[in-house]
Amino acid sequence: TRDAKKQAERYDLHALRERMLAETGGEVDDSIPELASANPDVCGLAIVDDDGDVRDTPDADLEFSVQSAVKPFVYALALVDDRERVLDAVGTEPTGEAFDAVRLESDTGRPPNPMVNAGALLTANLVSGSTPDERFERILSGLSAFAGRDLRVDDAVSSSEQLLGDRNRALGYLMRSRGTLDHPVDDAISVYARACSIVVSAEVLAVMGATLAFGGRNPVTGAQVVPREIVPIVLSVMATCGMYDGSGRWMRRVGLPAKSGVAGGLFASVPWQLGLGVYSPPLDKKGNSVRGVFACERLSDDMGLHVFGAP
Ligand code: GLU
Repeated sequence: TRDAKKQAERYDLHALRERMLAETGGEVDDSIPELASANPDVCGLAIVDDDGDVRDTPDADLEFSVQSAVKPFVYALALVDDRERVLDAVGTEPTGEAFDAVRLESDTGRPPNPMVNAGALLTANLVSGSTPDERFERILSGLSAFAGRDLRVDDAVSSSEQLLGDRNRALGYLMRSRGTLDHPVDDAISVYARACSIVVSAEVLAVMGATLAFGGRNPVTGAQVVPREIVPIVLSVMATCGMYDGSGRWMRRVGLPAKSGVAGGLFASVPWQLGLGVYSPPLDKKGNSVRGVFACERLSDDMGLHVFGAP
């Protein structure tokens, strides 16, 4: 089998980062002021192996809001809390549309998958908790276990997400009109917006991605964060839907389950081998970090990480 661990120990991440910095395309997201003010020149990269060893570059500790990269972890926690209900309430089909498309399954009124906003808005409100605060606390403590450290919320990002979240509210009302979302829309939005505003770094995302890569066990803390049987559901939906409507090209070129976010974060899970985390704000037209995609293509090619690649 490919020994990604040895290759990761030998891989010159700093040289890769230099090549990444030369990729100057893309635009910083401007959906909220806190994202629009990001420095387009920062670029961090981290790799975590099965011993929990972290190898990283400058800027891998820079903090940013997780945004849509939160969605696989919220999905995992919701599946833990009520697997049958979640599998019944949210589809698992890629849409080929943008992350915020106002689109539900015509026959069922379900969101198409948990990686688009409609699906994540619902899964964020299907985790255990009788109030929005309890549901958010479940998400924050769950993500902290994936990360192996106490995470926090960027309150400025959260209030902007809630203030400017009209499109997500529209999704919420549409789902309520179809009987798909039970909670009041404002309650649902408050959970989802805070989840998107949790602060991470490239290194934190790499540990979180590694926890999914190793069957739900955090390789840094050794904690079994979610039951192993949940993980294939999450990774398979990431593989088909995780990179917005660039998921098909991503799977062909990189070949790893991954999830991006509009702050410029991106993580990938190399099943039973590694977790990868990248941060650089400029986004391509699909909404994925230009340098994040570049780095993962190089790592996949150079280290033979493609899940369908050579053994
Ligand atoms: N908070 C953003 C939203 O709900 C996340 C978008 C993204 O990262 O794709 O629109």
